[in-house]
Amino acid sequence: MADLEPKAPSDFLRTIVANDVKAGTHGGSVITRFPPEPNGYLHIGHAKSICINFGIAQEFGGRCHLRFDDTNPCREEDEFVEGIKDDVRWLGFDWGEHQYFASDYFDQLYAWAIQLIKEGKAFVCDMSGEEISASRGRASAAGTESPWRNRSVEENLDLFERMRNGEFDEGSKTLRAKIDMASPHLQLRDPVMYRILKASHHRTGDTWCIYPMYDYTHGQSDSLEKITHSICTLEFSDHRPLYDWYIQALGIFPSHQYEFARLNMTYTALSKRRLKGLVDEGVVTGWDDPRMPTLAGMRRRGYTPEAIREFCKRIGVAKADSMVDFALLEFCLREDLNKRASRYMAVLDPIKVVIDNYPEGQVEHLEAVNNPEDPGAGARQVPFSRELYIEREDFMENPPKQFFRLAPGREVRLRYAYFITCTSAVKDADGNVTELHCTYDPASKGGNSPDGRKVKSTLHWVSAAEAVDAEVRLYDVLFAKENAMEVEEGKTWQDNLNPNSLTVVNNAKIEPALARLGSTAAVQFERLGYFCLDTDTTEARPVFNRTVTLRDTWAKAQQASG
Ligand code: ATP
Ligand code: MG
Repeated sequence: MADLEPKAPSDFLRTIVANDVKAGTHGGSVITRFPPEPNGYLHIGHAKSICINFGIAQEFGGRCHLRFDDTNPCREEDEFVEGIKDDVRWLGFDWGEHQYFASDYFDQLYAWAIQLIKEGKAFVCDMSGEEISASRGRASAAGTESPWRNRSVEENLDLFERMRNGEFDEGSKTLRAKIDMASPHLQLRDPVMYRILKASHHRTGDTWCIYPMYDYTHGQSDSLEKITHSICTLEFSDHRPLYDWYIQALGIFPSHQYEFARLNMTYTALSKRRLKGLVDEGVVTGWDDPRMPTLAGMRRRGYTPEAIREFCKRIGVAKADSMVDFALLEFCLREDLNKRASRYMAVLDPIKVVIDNYPEGQVEHLEAVNNPEDPGAGARQVPFSRELYIEREDFMENPPKQFFRLAPGREVRLRYAYFITCTSAVKDADGNVTELHCTYDPASKGGNSPDGRKVKSTLHWVSAAEAVDAEVRLYDVLFAKENAMEVEEGKTWQDNLNPNSLTVVNNAKIEPALARLGSTAAVQFERLGYFCLDTDTTEARPVFNRTVTLRDTWAKAQQASG
């Protein structure tokens, strides 16, 4: 019966929406929107906003629009429009036929500007941008009125039309709303509605040389689409009085703005400007570099949409800014990949092992379980032979007490294969171990103890002749500073970078099945982590990205603190 009870709304936004639906506001309809500016690729912060907007619409039987907020002709590109659509779809959301562009509303916005001029609520101002800023005043002190504020309606209509016709230079005139230079809300101190920009727009071309400001566009776009809940981040709280003023002055559909705390994450920069800097300066290879916190980068890195959605669910929605530990994102990723990723064996730092009592030239195919978490994933055959590779760090000549892996005289299990005992280590002139000699116990086939005797560790391995060479890219955080966006006095943001964010392993050895993957979905390299085939490479050999390590620092930290 409990299932039939309505669930309590899980956050303040859902409480607001649930109350509106209950009260029958807007006939109980719920229409939200996700409004990216197409001036870059989406990042994990946008994913939070997407999950909120599309999630709320789904939960309340409404819909969510995808609206490109393309009012700035100088920075926007079609490439970004397509990238954003791919990313939203990949994350698992669908806007159906409801794709819009703010630029589609330019005619309507222009007509509304004329309406406001006619009503004495807007005027053409000849002040420069700096003069306007300087005249705005402070929170505690009123601003000063523009000398052009009391132009007649006729003069304003004439000048605005000539602005539109390209008669004036950029920066020489603006259209401003005539509100109140003494308002306690700075945004209401005669804000600029239109500026002159002689720039081509990615969709309207050279039709316009005046462009509406964000504030003059956003609320009216919401209103045109009958958005019931316009959900945005906290920095727009100050803009809400102006959002409401335009809607009231024009007497149009009363969309309402609600603000939530943006996502900030440790060791991560979540600002398109900063991410663009990383791309433009060649710190990363592009917007989809697997180290980038962009959805394109995370997808290439092997993240799943399920993991990202789970992360967005766990961080919740709050009204106060906070910093989320990026380890929580990795925790969600591991949880998801543990269920879905097939297991394979790969050796990143190989050292050769010769099994002296194994017949020369013989190859056995041993059965290996693909995913112990998913019986349906089946099994595969892994070749085993006299010469193998294991991980160099799995052997120590003089092991300390806590080291349970291979050492001279020590017996260990090779996963899915046999028990082996190390008999000797071959060294080069400098004393570096170059090869290990071992014997195996034929009675331990499958890695099972023949007589109940125990070994303390199980190693991964690959057969030397059948192994395939691969490149493996190991990633670490892009920024070494916990608050990546905070630049210390006398330093630049580049000083915050982690110089070791990428380590390339050139000589990895992978089991043959890994060379035939044919999918970029993440797999587990046993004992090493989750990895995925890189999509974009000119290399002849397979290139793998490390998606995430196996070690779960976040869960451990939680245990320690909780
Ligand atoms: P950035 O701050 O990265 O430059 P932006 O706000 O300029 O991003 P937009 O394309 O305007 O990017 O954002 C689209 C939507 O995504 C907006 O509603 C914005 O509030 C939301 N958004 C942007 N960054 C975050 C974030 N870090 N956390 C949550 N929502 C975000
Ligand atoms: Mg923005």
